[in-house]
Amino acid sequence: MTAELDLALERRIGRSSATVIEKHLGITTVDGLLNYFPRRYMSRGELTPISGLPLDEEVTLIARVLSSTTRNMQARRGTITDVIVSDDDGKQGLRLVGGTDYRGKVPGTLKITFFNGFKAKKDLLQGRRALFSGKVTKFKGQLGLTNPDFQLLDDDPFSEDSQDPEKLAAMPIPVYPATAKLPSWKIQNAVHALLETLDLDALPDPVPSAVARREKFLPLAEAYRLIHAPESAEDWRRARDRLRYHEALVLQSALARRRAQLAAEEATARRRIPDGLLAAFDANLPFTLTAGQDAIGKTLASELSRDSPMNRLLQGEVGSGKTIVALRAMLQVVDAGGQAALLAPTEVLAAQHYESIRRSLGALSRDGLLGGFGGASVQVTLLTGSMPASARKQALLDAASGTAGIIIGTHALLSGNVTFYDLGLIVVDEQHRFGVEQRDALRAKARKPPHLLVMTATPIPRTVAMTVFGDLETSVLDELPAGRAPISTHLVGLAENPAWAGRIWARSREEINNGHQVYVVCPKIGADDDGDFSPEEADAAEGLDGENGRELASVTAVVEHLQSEPALSGVSLAPLHGRQPPEVKTAVMAGFVDNQVKMLVSTTVIEVGVDVPNATLMVILDADRFGISQLHQLRGRVGRGGLPGTCLLVTALEPGHPSRKRLEAVAATTDGFELSQEDLKLRREGDILGASQSGGRSTLRLLRVLEHEAVIGRARDDAQQIVSQDPLLAAHPELAEAIHKYLNPEKEAFLERG
Ligand code: ADP
Ligand code: MG
Repeated sequence: MTAELDLALERRIGRSSATVIEKHLGITTVDGLLNYFPRRYMSRGELTPISGLPLDEEVTLIARVLSSTTRNMQARRGTITDVIVSDDDGKQGLRLVGGTDYRGKVPGTLKITFFNGFKAKKDLLQGRRALFSGKVTKFKGQLGLTNPDFQLLDDDPFSEDSQDPEKLAAMPIPVYPATAKLPSWKIQNAVHALLETLDLDALPDPVPSAVARREKFLPLAEAYRLIHAPESAEDWRRARDRLRYHEALVLQSALARRRAQLAAEEATARRRIPDGLLAAFDANLPFTLTAGQDAIGKTLASELSRDSPMNRLLQGEVGSGKTIVALRAMLQVVDAGGQAALLAPTEVLAAQHYESIRRSLGALSRDGLLGGFGGASVQVTLLTGSMPASARKQALLDAASGTAGIIIGTHALLSGNVTFYDLGLIVVDEQHRFGVEQRDALRAKARKPPHLLVMTATPIPRTVAMTVFGDLETSVLDELPAGRAPISTHLVGLAENPAWAGRIWARSREEINNGHQVYVVCPKIGADDDGDFSPEEADAAEGLDGENGRELASVTAVVEHLQSEPALSGVSLAPLHGRQPPEVKTAVMAGFVDNQVKMLVSTTVIEVGVDVPNATLMVILDADRFGISQLHQLRGRVGRGGLPGTCLLVTALEPGHPSRKRLEAVAATTDGFELSQEDLKLRREGDILGASQSGGRSTLRLLRVLEHEAVIGRARDDAQQIVSQDPLLAAHPELAEAIHKYLNPEKEAFLERG
């Protein structure tokens, strides 16, 4: 039966249907179409009455044809078919007056226009009933539909009961994710054709029977039948519950298996020693660790001491002090004779980590040239793609020979020519830029599986963590170090208050006069490029669509403008963006860190990790171009030095514009967890589970990570139990097979590499 699922679709529904399905949906197998579920179901109660049609919205209505006329177009070849329809109220005796020209004048009637509507002309005959769906438009002051999808209802080949008005009224109409060329009902036809040829009872069921009994699930065959062809809302709800759990179980089992595989690997234990670098570092710490830093530090210390690899996700708000936690773990590993690698998402951030880690290590950090302080110091080495060849060569040598104890870098660390002497710990900073595959590429560089610590400042709701990072254990750093000042965020709407544009720079001047520094963030680099970012910045951009024709603030244009801004005369300002040569970026950043540069005009290169405590004001221009989590990250750059921070979100959008919702949300709270919930609500699921980190999970069909927490939780517990009793799933071949199918082949390869 498994073979049946893999069959080419055309073997079951015929060549021509299969070709259309493949062309528009990319589905080629029986399995693919069987699992292509309706997005929602309509009941007749939901149908839009003609009298209440909303302009510019997609509507679906059932109507009866009152008249149909076809004429030739005047200017070009082709025909126009005008069909006048009336709400079908299910009663007989509609005022059907043959030949009367209604033209939508009678209340409850609507004109539907088809250009070259050959099929419409043939099918939409007077008296016929049909389901129409399309967008309501206005033409010469009159609402109408143009070339909508339609389906003749009395012709519906699948509902023999369609003549029974009561049954029809109760019967949900499945709505499939459709395309302009392939309307929902055609998909429905293909699915029904498939259901008729399949022996559903023979389908392999990955859900263990004990679980199915506990959950009172429908049999699998029944669930497939009812999700595609329900007779009542109850039908599809029960079918969905069953198939949704099914999906959650397969996904969570894949993750549980990966966790089990990772845990079964043998790593080198890196035990704490009483008098090494870590002890010396702790003794000189200029502050006390927060309770959270201390507790997580203990967890890491004990996991590093085991001979199975640590795989941990550390979540913590911006500024919660994750770096110290990571550095202490790195020192423990170095004390135990291993190397630690820190992977940062951008060159700027890697360089910053390099500087700040060397600074916090003080005398414990040794320069390559001055070796020989014995065991009491560690060489910290920076390795990035754009380093001069000679420095890079030296860094590569130091990593390979073991001279370097801590190696800090970007993606460059993943490249083939980087080798380590004995890589014991990988720390990934700001996880959202590194996917599972990249983590695995780094892991492969160690002789034995290394310990892994992934850090993220984007708070992740629990179920998202279980889904996206389900192969990692999670720790949360939920308090900020004492003395952290609050950040106040204000929305500056230039549409309603153009004069505020000038106020922003006066406000910046005040901040600078008080001895502080200012960030100005722009969505673009150059005046006439269109978001021409470095690859790193492009990664960071969240793909939000811009307004047509609006000139967005760019680094170069803003710098030019600010240089002649009277309020800022004499202020030293500098641009920073991804297209500058690395040495320029480094110099600019150093100037800002040293308080030589008062105002930094940049792209989102400063989004993560940059730490300049003296910066107190951040102005984000065209803030509507950024996503919620990006804005939250950005503003985390101010208010770090015990000085209150201010963030101005500047937008030219009109009040009430949908994109201003994001800005309002960010201004309303500094609670990262709340924001990330909000963010997920406003964004599409696919963006959260994007290919970069989802490992095939962008194929989630019925599961919504925010809505189905309980299902995901139960599935996770069940999966954990199944996998711990039977790691190879020998007694669960259907589940093993489903996991295999669920992940696409490349992704499956990553799971098995573990
Ligand atoms: P993030 O979690 O955003 O990476 P960092 O690790 O960069 O935060 O820490 C932010 C700042 O807080 C740094 O300047 C760091 O030295 C400081 N810091 C970290 N831990 C503490 C602490 N326990 N007490 C006071 N300051 C701390
Ligand atoms: Mg950080």
